[in-house]
Amino acid sequence: MFAVSVRSLAKNYGSKPALAGVDLEIAPGAIFGLVGPNGAGKTTLLSILAGLKAPTSGTFSLGPDGTGIGFMPDTPTYYPWLTGPELLDYAARLRSIKIDDSEISWRMAQVGLSQVGPGDQTKIGDYSRGMRQRLAMAATLLGDPPVLLLDEPCSALDPAGRVEVLDIISSLAGRATVIFSTHLLSDVERVCDSVAMLDRGRVIMAGPIEAIRQYGAAPGFRLALDFDDQGLIAEISRYPWFAGVVAGKPGYYTVTVTDFETARRDLLQLIVTRSVPLIEFARADPSLEEVFLKVLAPR
Ligand code: ATP
Repeated sequence: MFAVSVRSLAKNYGSKPALAGVDLEIAPGAIFGLVGPNGAGKTTLLSILAGLKAPTSGTFSLGPDGTGIGFMPDTPTYYPWLTGPELLDYAARLRSIKIDDSEISWRMAQVGLSQVGPGDQTKIGDYSRGMRQRLAMAATLLGDPPVLLLDEPCSALDPAGRVEVLDIISSLAGRATVIFSTHLLSDVERVCDSVAMLDRGRVIMAGPIEAIRQYGAAPGFRLALDFDDQGLIAEISRYPWFAGVVAGKPGYYTVTVTDFETARRDLLQLIVTRSVPLIEFARADPSLEEVFLKVLAPR
């Protein structure tokens, strides 16, 4: 049973397709990243799932009974004359949730807004963009919805705020199903277990992070030596498993190979035989960014 299931979802704005047949299945309790270039269709997809836009065709289901969704828009806009605590109280009433001062306090503290707890008179109109985004996160989490749709929840936050919000998202794993869109693949690598890449309204790649990292990426090793050793590189390039080498600063190389296990054995032997002045010998894991750039490039 999937928490979120999307089938052949399409959306046209006039004659222009924004989603061109999206299929997704997301397990309960997953933290799912939605990435893709500008205009890929991320906001359109999240808005349809949130019930704010109607699809042109296709179907989707959310949770066991389709209820209990928390949606955080990419640019949260609230009545500027309300205070933060008033907004939380208002949002709670709209959702028929009872909320008292102590919950307002801890909900604000949870998103790093403890300075605007109950009684604070600062109007939302005077909040910074980052504060509004944190407030939006607090409002979205009210009632602990089982499915959370977060559209670029960290885009207005400074690095410390980004880590705080990513940690909140991470802490929801297993308790809620979270889909969040972002342009930062490092955010996805930090908190998500699965990811989908959208491009021009289509899913061009989706799956567990580990599987995606390995997809299409040649296995390899990172070697760091005390000094540049072209003799070693020449020797490495003669092995049948050698695929290529990228040199970094002097003495730093990434060697890609066609047969990981044989290459590991041979490289270790070579390092010992040549008494290579080794600083580091590690598997070179491709980043999501490398994989996605590679997948996008030839299209
Ligand atoms: P970004 O990363 O820039 O936020 P996105 O992946 O969220 O982009 P969408 O905002 O969903 O992409 O837009 C997908 C496509 O649909 C784009 O070509 C966009 O111009 C178009 N689009 C979005 N909203 C509308 C609208 N209300 N009317 C017409 N076209 C729209």
